Amino acid sequence: MLGIGIDIGGTNTKLVVVNRAGKALAHERFKTEACNGPASFLKRLGAAVGELRRDYGRQLVSIGMGAAGDVDPERGVLRFAPNLGWRNVKLTAPLEKLTGLPCAMENDANMAAWGAYEIELGRKFGDVLTLTLGTGIGSGMILGGKLYHGASGTAGEAGHMKIVPDGRLCGCGGKGCLEAYCGSRSILARARELIKNEAAFVRKYADPARPKFNTICLTRAAAAGHPAARRVWAETGHYLGCGLASLILVLNPGCVVLTGGVSRALKWFMPSLRKALCGQQIKTPFARVKIKISDDADLGSHGAALFGLERALK
Ligand SMILES: [Zn+2]
Repeated sequence: MLGIGIDIGGTNTKLVVVNRAGKALAHERFKTEACNGPASFLKRLGAAVGELRRDYGRQLVSIGMGAAGDVDPERGVLRFAPNLGWRNVKLTAPLEKLTGLPCAMENDANMAAWGAYEIELGRKFGDVLTLTLGTGIGSGMILGGKLYHGASGTAGEAGHMKIVPDGRLCGCGGKGCLEAYCGSRSILARARELIKNEAAFVRKYADPARPKFNTICLTRAAAAGHPAARRVWAETGHYLGCGLASLILVLNPGCVVLTGGVSRALKWFMPSLRKALCGQQIKTPFARVKIKISDDADLGSHGAALFGLERALK
């Protein structure tokens, strides 16, 4: 039995066919083109699923879908997706009608959390917190072996926890959010404040194939010993550690999984992150928590496929 996983991104929508062991057998993708509206998107999504069904036929038994934003998992409605500009779009019911397959939809960080729980950790831990560290910061929680939604389906908005009262302005309009310190855009903004000549910095440290001021460039600069780059990553680890400490105190997870582009700089932010965790007064929840970095760039779509299978076969 196979499941289809779908990750609806701002630029591309990715599809994957996954078996029950989490192994990906096929990939598809198409341009999301959210500006053409949900009806056009659903038509193209239905066509992409149709192609996979031609190849895998009745082996395909379910669809799991993840999208960034506010998702109502019970009704299968994308309530608000800032990166797509959509509000209150019904997705699962029309897709089920088009394809005849049962379809589950969740926030993309929840799907990454399910992927971490099943694929990365092989269900060894019942209580897992996953943080997705990219432009934005999302989180998903598996508690007692179940995906935790909260009362209205929005649990896990860890990126907008306030970690500095009246701190830096966040993309959400609030001040002092975790994302305003540890989202990639904010990390680069803090670095810009310290680096005097950005063009020279990019020339010296960026990947020659992608000469851009990004977190990869900042990581390469830290590896070369650039003091401002090292300082920015150390501060990022401190803020991330403060946020994570609060989450660990509340949830007492067995494992924390960090994923997303920013997590690749672990060598440079992990020492200060661990220091922030060690500095807590209540020691027990920190004594045994395992912190794992996942470098699976498709954790969200793979997790979505497995979550869809889990729901369909329950
Ligand atoms: Zn915010």
